[in-house]
Amino acid sequence: MDRQEIIARIQALKKEKRAIVLAHYYTLPEIQDLADYLGDSLGLSKQAAATDADIIVFCGVHFMAETAAIIAPDKKVLSPAPEAGCSLADSATAEGLRQWKEAHPNGLVVSYVNTTAAVKAQTDYCCTSSNALNVVRSLPEDCEILFGPDRNLGAWICQKTGRKMELWDGCCCVHDQITSEMVNSMLDRYPDADVLIHPESKCVNDPAILAHPRVFFYSTAGIMDHSVRVNKNRFVIATEEGALYELGKRSPQKEFIPVAQGVLCEEMKKVTLERLLETLETECGQVRVPEEIRQRALLPIERMMNL
Ligand code: SF4
Repeated sequence: MDRQEIIARIQALKKEKRAIVLAHYYTLPEIQDLADYLGDSLGLSKQAAATDADIIVFCGVHFMAETAAIIAPDKKVLSPAPEAGCSLADSATAEGLRQWKEAHPNGLVVSYVNTTAAVKAQTDYCCTSSNALNVVRSLPEDCEILFGPDRNLGAWICQKTGRKMELWDGCCCVHDQITSEMVNSMLDRYPDADVLIHPESKCVNDPAILAHPRVFFYSTAGIMDHSVRVNKNRFVIATEEGALYELGKRSPQKEFIPVAQGVLCEEMKKVTLERLLETLETECGQVRVPEEIRQRALLPIERMMNL
């Protein structure tokens, strides 16, 4: 089958099987083009909750498909790349979190959605980079917060909210490559451009970057919104490079420059057209979460979605 035939077959199978394809902004362009919904973690979770399709094919990494299976237990959630992992999700284990909670018995646990179901099951509130500030601001002023697993996002939330939090020492190996030096070099080189940065990036720890008038920190969805809304012709983008494809589609007349070459998540590129087709044909790769864990993991996700 050539590429066009594969695409046509995927489209036909989606209709035939009442399947919906959800894809993250960091997947390959050809997968983004086939998605019924393209988004970041928060948007994809909302779509998984809202869809009336029978099958959800989740194009992303494992924890994302697992989150969909937690939210939508009556759907068949399929992952075309079940082995696709995430350095951030891998940095926190259920046992490690249990010990951390034991050391801080009065702490409320706020976990980034990039965690396993077992970690979510021990969490009080989930958050994504889109809603992390709102989630933390909604918690009582006097409560201790244990935030994990991303130390950079945690540090950024502390800066923005003025709240002290205990931070888990994990990171995204992709965004943690984005340094102050890279950002400063692009600010010098493109004096007319806004620099849009994902808060998982290492440079959140630099006060001069945080205070710079042409630097803005956003989730990937927030980066998309800023680039459309703001009347500038050029933006430097400091997040995973897959996002550049959708940015270019939304504003073809604008220029989007990656902050550096190679800010790339290999795990997100594991879903290919061939694997997507095979998944729809065979319905293999179903993601299941044990019911007892699913029910406990659902609570912090629901608290997040209700905010
Ligand atoms: S970009 Fe980072 S946080 Fe996202 S899936 Fe890849 S490793 Fe995980």
